[in-house]
Amino acid sequence: MLDCAIIGAGLAGLVAAQYLVDRGLKVVVLEGRDRVGGRVENRVLSDGGYVELGGQWIGPGFAALTEIIDDLGLTTIGLPAKGNLVVRLRGQALEVPSSDEAPTLTPFEVSDLGQGLLRLRRLAERLRDDPAWRKSNGAWLGQDLRRWVSTNLRTQGAQRRFAEVYAAAFGPMPKGATLLEGLHQVNSGPDLETMLASNGGLHQKRVDGGMATVATALADRLGDVVRLNAEAVKVAYSDRSATVTLADGEEIEAKQVISTLPPQLAVAMEYDPPLPAWRKEAADKVAPGNVIKAFLIYDHPFWRDRGFSGQSSADQGAVRVTFDTTADNSNRGHLMGFFEGADADSLSRRSVSLRERAFVDSVVRTFGQTAAKPVAYIERNWSSEKFTGGCHGAHFSPGVWTTNGPILAEPEGVLHWAGAEYSTRFNGYMEGAVRSGREVAAAVARDLA
Ligand SMILES: Cc1cc2nc3c(=O)[nH]c(=O)nc-3n(C[C@H](O)[C@H](O)[C@H](O)COP(=O)(O)OP(=O)(O)OC[C@H]3O[C@@H](n4cnc5c(N)ncnc54)[C@H](O)[C@@H]3O)c2cc1C
Repeated sequence: MLDCAIIGAGLAGLVAAQYLVDRGLKVVVLEGRDRVGGRVENRVLSDGGYVELGGQWIGPGFAALTEIIDDLGLTTIGLPAKGNLVVRLRGQALEVPSSDEAPTLTPFEVSDLGQGLLRLRRLAERLRDDPAWRKSNGAWLGQDLRRWVSTNLRTQGAQRRFAEVYAAAFGPMPKGATLLEGLHQVNSGPDLETMLASNGGLHQKRVDGGMATVATALADRLGDVVRLNAEAVKVAYSDRSATVTLADGEEIEAKQVISTLPPQLAVAMEYDPPLPAWRKEAADKVAPGNVIKAFLIYDHPFWRDRGFSGQSSADQGAVRVTFDTTADNSNRGHLMGFFEGADADSLSRRSVSLRERAFVDSVVRTFGQTAAKPVAYIERNWSSEKFTGGCHGAHFSPGVWTTNGPILAEPEGVLHWAGAEYSTRFNGYMEGAVRSGREVAAAVARDLA
């Protein structure tokens, strides 16, 4: 019998497997897709360049992931081009020096935003450090996050910028999100203040060759421990062992199982005995975000000719943020953007060519007519992927994190749960996936000892 069967060969699954293999344990990684990496994936282009369809950016504090990248001998690179940022507000495109923080705002608005972020951070710290304060302020902490923002930031410019920074860090603010949930996000995610710096913050570094090379290098080390096209459909478990059934009927027995599927996919599998009702209810309420990551490929990075970095942000349009993600080995220019939230919801039901037109239209409004003729359009709609079902990560519905979140990660006997959504730090990010994979593998190794 195997020591551990790991379901999913994303970052969490691969890191967990490496941890256990390094300790001499017998492990298999069962991956439903015909590739490893999960929400990390490269698409190689005809000219030898590539685009990264999923997780890409490494931010400050991504220590566990950086350690793995270094250990694999891979290198990281910054944003390809220095240059000015373009911000489109109320229909007007403004060029902003890249060193200028919170550039679109008047000095009064900058100060307002700074005060607001500081207040939010102090509250988040208090929430973390002072359980008695949290208890006695329960009702106040349950107030609508948007309402807190509108009463604590006095200027519209600062409120708008706050929403942009918040969305870039954690995804669009869900309707009905409470202040408590916002503070939890602040405590578990990247530093909002750092993200205000246009050339710093979350979107700072990427792996040369793409993050997918991390996943393939980890899988190469693991060799035939990783099995592709091995979709798990059922887990039968007792106090002492578990049997994972694959879609083709094969049964794999192991002393312990680690599922690294996002919560909604994890509970959708068949279990014998069935999972406790609370776990299904909690996971069902975890609505995965909806983001379509898209690229416009140009015959050369025209924005650089004009001193632009390719980074832009806008308050209107289908695609509101762009980045230059041109691969170093390509002569072409790659502009990456996201369809997010309601735009992604409605546009995901339309044709690919309509989404391409919507992206081009947004970019033309920001960079001018030179952007009107890309040579290619590439996208990945993760919500329609059977083995992912949404992205970037899950956004917990009101009350779900606070009531059920911490226990979602609790093992069910020999059944363990790992992945970006279960991590208490960097929840939803690659760093969260790596940390969770390692921590859960360590718990499994302890149980097996
Ligand atoms: C568009 C996009 C952009 C992102 N950008 C960033 C970023 O810039 N920075 C960042 O830090 N994070 C980013 N993320 C998030 C990051 O990619 C994820 O948090 C991380 O990759 C999740 O890793 P994981 O191992 O937890 O889950 P996954 O990568 O989802 O791994 C789960 C694995 O399980 C497999 N699987 C599913 N069902 C089954 C089954 N039944 N049987 C067997 N296998 C199964 C899947 O195929 C997958 O390989 C982004 C995500 C997306 C989608």
